[in-house]
Amino acid sequence: MADCFAPTVRSRIMATVRNRHTAPELRLRKSLWSLGCRYRLHDRRVPGSPDISIPRARVAIFVDGCFWHGCPRCYTPPKSNAPFWRKKLKVNERRRHNVRRELRIAGWQCIEIWECDVERNCERAARRIQAAVARRLTEID
Ligand SMILES: [Zn+2]
Repeated sequence: MADCFAPTVRSRIMATVRNRHTAPELRLRKSLWSLGCRYRLHDRRVPGSPDISIPRARVAIFVDGCFWHGCPRCYTPPKSNAPFWRKKLKVNERRRHNVRRELRIAGWQCIEIWECDVERNCERAARRIQAAVARRLTEID
């Protein structure tokens, strides 16, 4: 059967199959771990089941795919099927917005890290999280 999608589009579709434990997420986890941060993964008890969550500090971390969430730095809309992707992005954005609100109501701080931030400087992203966690802990205690 012929594929109705261009190969680049197809590979992006296939990429959704693996949206947990992505390479940037693994790298960030490793850096956090080496900074002494202990976390939970995809905890369903936390709104939006964040990629990484630190329950003690109530910090939720999402590692956002630059393509799926329209990163302002590196997103370029696909040429084929433009209306489809525009709509897809909008749906993702709305979901993100709702999750952020739910987290706020439940007393969580939400940190969003772009995939490309991890690629550029994973240590810096990890330190940013560590600082937020430290701040939250002093607030809570
Ligand atoms: Zn990006």
